Amino acid sequence: MKAWIVAVGSELLTPFRVDTNSLAITERLNAIGCEVRRKVVVGDDVSELVTIFERGIGHVDVMVCTGGLGPTEDDITRDAVARVLKVPMDLDQGIVDGIRQRFERRGLTMPEINRRQGMVPRGATILENPRGTAPGLWIERQGTGIALLPGPPREMTPMLEALIAERLLPRSGGAGLFRRVLKITGRSESDVDARAQPLYGKWLTAPIPIAATILAVMGQIELHLTASAATRKEAETALESAVRELQDLLGPIIYSIDGRALEAVIGELLRSKRLTVSVAESCSGGLLASRITDVPGSSDYFDRGAVCYSNRAKEEWLGVPSELIASHGAVSEPVASAMAEGIADRAGSAIGIGITGIAGPGGGTPEKPVGTVAIAVRTPTAKQVRTFQFLGARDMVKFQSAQAAMNMLRLMLLDA
Ligand code: ATP
Repeated sequence: MKAWIVAVGSELLTPFRVDTNSLAITERLNAIGCEVRRKVVVGDDVSELVTIFERGIGHVDVMVCTGGLGPTEDDITRDAVARVLKVPMDLDQGIVDGIRQRFERRGLTMPEINRRQGMVPRGATILENPRGTAPGLWIERQGTGIALLPGPPREMTPMLEALIAERLLPRSGGAGLFRRVLKITGRSESDVDARAQPLYGKWLTAPIPIAATILAVMGQIELHLTASAATRKEAETALESAVRELQDLLGPIIYSIDGRALEAVIGELLRSKRLTVSVAESCSGGLLASRITDVPGSSDYFDRGAVCYSNRAKEEWLGVPSELIASHGAVSEPVASAMAEGIADRAGSAIGIGITGIAGPGGGTPEKPVGTVAIAVRTPTAKQVRTFQFLGARDMVKFQSAQAAMNMLRLMLLDA
């Protein structure tokens, strides 16, 4: 199956709003083996939208369109579809009643303008919108299914799920593109690519070809493996064996073979080993604690985080001796180590992590340039301290500090 995605809304053509719907839609379409051939962002302009529908209908299997279903004059998606299909619009009293009731439940009277949202191009099927007023619409013409979904992501998402399950999955027949995402941290993109290169050629000429794409994103590398096969089962089998080949080749630098984030991976390890962790952060400013607690259920293993930016905070809250700071400097392995010990002891956690570094842009010296970060991890059985030299702006240094700390912990837990 081939798809186009159309994002409608003049605000998406300004510097202030990004079209994120198309990313979510692409992910869901790809998951059922549907390939996205084109993405279009178009303003609230009927003639522009008409041109796009004219091109797409009869050309692709599905066009998923979001936005422009609201009640105002500039919500033009319905009109454009009706114009292209040369069908009249009928008022669906059921939709209007539903919208009126939604207003009444909040003690409001429905403005007359909202009746516009009850206008349906003749022949279209209505898609329920459990989270908003504007329903979605589904129309088929010349072999192309056209889905019109509302713009707000929280309304669009559940409707997309229903669309995929009820209409697109049965059409996909199981064939298509299937993907696995592997995540790697602690190595450079070129290093990973050079080591994995011999596998790529072999995979491309295999009976079920697999294409590999390498992406470097903030402190981690993603390897995307895409298999094209007649059935999901065949694709899964081929992908599984490719993933195993990569694991044999690259070893534990691969932290995730199912797209999971590093914080979720360490969470799983901590839970399975029944260990708790507390963190003391200087240059990462609480980012490590924030990322660990992004994972639902992290209260099972995360006790506390202290942001100790000043030397005084490190002394008062963590018991780092002032002489240690005076003799080695606040950014040093002995101080990172004392921070990890200090927080673990005070919290009574099995594991303590200490991070101290120079996020920049100021504060660097020839011996300790911007991006120098000392990280210590203390577990019940081991202790490691390392100094990293990260590149990039302040946010990159903070992110990589949290990333490296979690990766050190992961590798230590795997060894334990
Ligand atoms: P409504 O009934 O809420 O007006 P609608 O279908 O008409 O729904 P729009 O008015 O086009 O939707 O968009 C409403 C809001 O949804 C936008 O201001 C924007 O915040 C968000 N939105 C719209 N399209 C997208 C998109 N492609 N990606 C991310 N957000 C979007």
